Amino acid sequence: MKPNTTPRPVLVPGAIYWADGGRQICVRCAGQSALYTGRDLSGQKVARVTVEDVRAWPEDLGSLQCASGCTSLTAVAGPDGWPLERGDVW
Ligand SMILES: [Zn+2]
Repeated sequence: MKPNTTPRPVLVPGAIYWADGGRQICVRCAGQSALYTGRDLSGQKVARVTVEDVRAWPEDLGSLQCASGCTSLTAVAGPDGWPLERGDVW
């Protein structure tokens, strides 16, 4: 294993996170700060959206997606237990 000297994003591509004010962010629109620290601008740690979150999401709001609409989740859990991304919104 190579030593890990370069900063690595802590947010996972294809995942959505709850940021400040209940806003949803994904890797693409999180911004560098949140991407590498896992914290939003107010310093709060962002929480990854779970399958339960997607299931609890009100249907009339459409699919659970990030604030910019570039990532959208399904209520289907992937092999790692996190919700799978909807591929048809890109
Ligand atoms: Zn996004």
